[in-house]
Amino acid sequence: HAKKKGNSYLFFNDTMNRQAVKRLQIENLMRFGLKEDHFEVYYQPKMNIRTGKLTGMEALVRFITPKKGIISPGVFIPIAEETGQIIEIGEVVLNKACRDVKKWLDDGLFSGRVAVNLSAKQFSLPDLTSRIDVILQKNELPSYFLELEITEGTVMDDPKDAIAIMRSLSARGIHLAMDDFGTGYSSLAYLKQFPLNTLKVDKAFIDDMKTERGRNMVDSIVTIAHNLDLHVVAEGVEQADQIEILKKLNCETVQGYYYSKPLSKDEFTEFLKQQQTK
Ligand code: C2E
Ligand code: CA
Ligand code: CA
Ligand code: CA
Repeated sequence: HAKKKGNSYLFFNDTMNRQAVKRLQIENLMRFGLKEDHFEVYYQPKMNIRTGKLTGMEALVRFITPKKGIISPGVFIPIAEETGQIIEIGEVVLNKACRDVKKWLDDGLFSGRVAVNLSAKQFSLPDLTSRIDVILQKNELPSYFLELEITEGTVMDDPKDAIAIMRSLSARGIHLAMDDFGTGYSSLAYLKQFPLNTLKVDKAFIDDMKTERGRNMVDSIVTIAHNLDLHVVAEGVEQADQIEILKKLNCETVQGYYYSKPLSKDEFTEFLKQQQTK
């Protein structure tokens, strides 16, 4: 239906309207959740494909609301990106991840890197590096223990600028991973210039390994990565046969439900303890 407003017509589409309401609700929930500490960090193990041992983990945010239960990142992250709340949420995640890794390090349970997702909005903050320095210092965690995951979209927006930012992070000893590789539009010319350490092959490519074409595609990606001296992580690995294929393709690290879903801090502590007896 349409409502007369001045001499123009405003058209209301029910679906659009409901979406806008939902968006606003989530925006308000996030504002409240930031005040009340409703954002938690879960950890998903990254495993060495040959030894089956833990090499690192990815920090994944969980929005745990008392009234609506857990809201999936797939739902609230895009909204937080639009409203800018992702900056504050991202800092909560980085702070908690540094705090937890420091504890595991002090307890002798883990001495590798924690990977934290960095959104485009955070990446383009003029004081990004000093914000990260402050959080690392506050948690007494050397930058060596941090890895940041960024997507192609984040760096291809302004690649020249991105190279400078990535260099300043890399100079601190922070590792950089290209997340969801292959789903965006990064060019090989730039891939070579970015000071990256790791390339994460998106789950979509891992799922496609059912077909020969799909396997050839992952083979090509791994080859490109290795030619650029990059470490490869396969994402979303669920099946034993995928592990077998990835071994043949020389992919060194895997992450996915096959080994473990993302775990709460306490569950991950138990996981670390179990790893020690292996
Ligand atoms: P992502 O960075 O690509 O993270 C991997 C996602 O795949 C996670 O979803 C993880 O739980 C899921 N996953 C891992 N293994 C498997 C598997 O074997 N099968 C399937 N079906 N899924 C698997 P999650 O935690 O729901 O996060 C979704 C996305 O939200 C992330 O994708 C990332 O883009 C974003 N995100 C999550 N936490 C943060 C954060 O702290 N900051 C920012 N900026 N984004 C975040
Ligand atoms: Ca990621
Ligand atoms: Ca990813
Ligand atoms: Ca993804």
